[in-house]
Amino acid sequence: MNNKTFEVIIIGGGPAGMSAALVLGRSRIKTLILNTEQPRNIVTTHSHGFLTQDGVHPGEILNRAKIQLKKYPSVNYKLQKAIDLEVNTDNFLVKTAQDEYKSKRVVIATGYRDNIDQIGIDGLSEVYGKSIYPCPFCDGFEMADKKLAVIGDGTIAPMFSKTIAHWSNDVIAFTNGEQVADMDLLNNLEKNGISIIEKKIRKLLSKEGKLWGIELEDNSIIEREGGFLSDTQSVESTNFAQKLALPTEPGHFGMETYKVDENKETEIRGLFIIGDARTGWSGVAESVAEGSKVAAVITHQIIDENWID
Ligand SMILES: Cc1cc2nc3c(=O)[nH]c(=O)nc-3n(C[C@H](O)[C@H](O)[C@H](O)COP(=O)(O)OP(=O)(O)OC[C@H]3O[C@@H](n4cnc5c(N)ncnc54)[C@H](O)[C@@H]3O)c2cc1C
Repeated sequence: MNNKTFEVIIIGGGPAGMSAALVLGRSRIKTLILNTEQPRNIVTTHSHGFLTQDGVHPGEILNRAKIQLKKYPSVNYKLQKAIDLEVNTDNFLVKTAQDEYKSKRVVIATGYRDNIDQIGIDGLSEVYGKSIYPCPFCDGFEMADKKLAVIGDGTIAPMFSKTIAHWSNDVIAFTNGEQVADMDLLNNLEKNGISIIEKKIRKLLSKEGKLWGIELEDNSIIEREGGFLSDTQSVESTNFAQKLALPTEPGHFGMETYKVDENKETEIRGLFIIGDARTGWSGVAESVAEGSKVAAVITHQIIDENWID
């Protein structure tokens, strides 16, 4: 094997990819990991819910992962963006702007990214990840008992506000100009103390990332201290799976998930997909678990290939 050929190439070094690299390193498998170092939660100040790393900055998790991987000589880490993934009969070819690399196996761990600017609400980017979040399991605890907003459309915002009301009894769902069509849901929200505001939002008012009010089209300002966003307009960070037309199936939160077997291997033999890249939203702990699992699977496959009966 030359220095451009690896047993495994991992594309993407977030929690999923770095975890796979760690276990492959411990299995002494020649691995290349390509990373552009933009994990999805880098916009936030603290990552929560992953045991032993609760409250740690996402950048710090990345730094610690890089330091820990240095211990493993079979893992080669490169700050390079994979720009093409070619599936050949007996290998994969991964191209970056600098080089081309070959391997028998590829793990796609490229994650998702959120398109907050595309939502079209003035002031939203300033508070995203600082006082407005996508996930209550990640940041609900810190937002508990505050005056909360749930921002979305006439369908998802009311539904999501039911979940958010678990963390605070002062929740207003903002549909940003859309009417709530589901009258039963509307009645139930009212019964549970959740208000709905269907007026268009003019802008979010904040100081140093902390929301303090929501200005509506009629100039009124509704005081809010934080909240949650029901749709972040997220897309695959790099659409290798889409380009390869990998089949999907319905996943959680109404998202499509790439179809894999119990080993996270796709229908293309040797091609694995893990973390957010597979599901649209896995969270840190689940992404780490998938990385670890896929690395063990790959190790077993390689052991079997080298075994003489
Ligand atoms: C605001 C916010 C707060 C969050 N808070 C939490 C939390 O508190 N707890 C929690 O569990 N989850 C949280 N999440 C969710 C969490 O960020 C993701 O579920 C998790 O990062 C998924 O890990 P991943 O490894 O699959 O993808 P990512 O972490 O997104 O990592 C993907 C990596 O691949 C790299 N990459 C992409 N394309 C390429 C390419 N072509 N070539 C090379 N590298 C590439 C990226 O730069 C990135 O480093 C939060 C998300 C957001 C948006």
